[in-house]
Amino acid sequence: MTCPGSVALEAQCPGETNEYADEGTAAHALASMCLTTNNDPAAYAGRVFQIVNGVYWPGIEAPRPPLLKGHVTSIVNDFTVDDSMIENVRTYVNHIREYAASGDAVLRIEQRMSISHITEEKDAFGTSDAVIELLGHRELQVHDLKYGMGVQVFAERNPQLMIYAAAALAKFDPAGDNFDLVRLIIHQPRLSHLDEWVCPVTTLQAWVKNEVVPKAYHAMSTLLEKPDAVRHHLHASEPACRFCKAKATCPELARTVSEAVFGDFDALDDKTKTAPVIVPAVTDLIGHRMSKVEMVEDWCKAVRAKADLLLRNGEKVAGWKLVVGKKGNRKWGDENAAIKLMKAMRLKITEMYTMKVLTPTKAEAFFKMTPKRWAQLVSLITQEPGNAHVAPESDTRSAFVVPNAADDFAADDGSDLA
Ligand code: SF4
Repeated sequence: MTCPGSVALEAQCPGETNEYADEGTAAHALASMCLTTNNDPAAYAGRVFQIVNGVYWPGIEAPRPPLLKGHVTSIVNDFTVDDSMIENVRTYVNHIREYAASGDAVLRIEQRMSISHITEEKDAFGTSDAVIELLGHRELQVHDLKYGMGVQVFAERNPQLMIYAAAALAKFDPAGDNFDLVRLIIHQPRLSHLDEWVCPVTTLQAWVKNEVVPKAYHAMSTLLEKPDAVRHHLHASEPACRFCKAKATCPELARTVSEAVFGDFDALDDKTKTAPVIVPAVTDLIGHRMSKVEMVEDWCKAVRAKADLLLRNGEKVAGWKLVVGKKGNRKWGDENAAIKLMKAMRLKITEMYTMKVLTPTKAEAFFKMTPKRWAQLVSLITQEPGNAHVAPESDTRSAFVVPNAADDFAADDGSDLA
């Protein structure tokens, strides 16, 4: 939508995934399982979800996911369903169940929906996390679970969700008879963020026709351009660059990063050479730099990941090599053999095992059928407040009020010690 040339540049790039993306894939797999089986996420406590080449792999009975484009080895990440994943996925799953609670609701999980009719790209598709048809309300809902802890994402005019909604309308209501409204809902349980936006179907369809189709045509036409000419169709902006596979090699992003970092110094240098010297206030300077930090950090990570991939694929990266890092934690190769030997050594149970009391998350699942007993325990739960951290002013959470430093010096009777 914002960088037509990215289509041509990304076509040259290897497939990619990372631990954070794979963690999201594991959480999506767990959520999908819960919604399909009507289970609580706690039913899967301790289960390991293996993500192979960016895809959830249920085990040897299923075909192993293919290697990512440009990779010679598989990328495997294991995630154990722990308390944190249970709580966050439970929040999402319970919200979906509430949205789908009305009698006439049709809930569809993990729907693969074609978007080729919009982009003209062969076999282009998106996978919605949940689509709910509320036929009595003539409303179609598109839900998106974002499991990351990064930036808050908002539903209003969100292009990804709007395109998914157009795809869902084409798939589930091809004649255009059933719905007047689409509701787009973003779930970010780890940020305690739920955001929704409602839009008439006519507005959505007009946006697709007037905005998306021409931009998709422009983007697809860059595939026919010579590589040098593609750079005229590149436009760096956030969040597009953050999710772009070409960010490690893109000339336009490198130019923008360079300008953000070195242009800053140049601007300051110039100010020292010319009179009158105008030194920006520190608050303005840091505010300006903070607006660039995320893009620069993302670019650095992308360049590191690219070097890592090239070296792992046996290619040379001038001046760099792979080395073996710190060893992992020690663990029993055969836990049963270790237990047997310790028993033979006459160790007591309390010496052999580390016992821990149930966490509130596991206890909640345990006492699900006896709510009165659970209610007694609830009063014993405490929760640390979140730590304050820097966020853009557009963030919808209210600003943290920094305690007045003078309060620290107030005497117990309320009078100042000074
Ligand atoms: S990194 Fe940014 S500028 Fe470069 S192709 Fe991707 S979206 Fe476009």
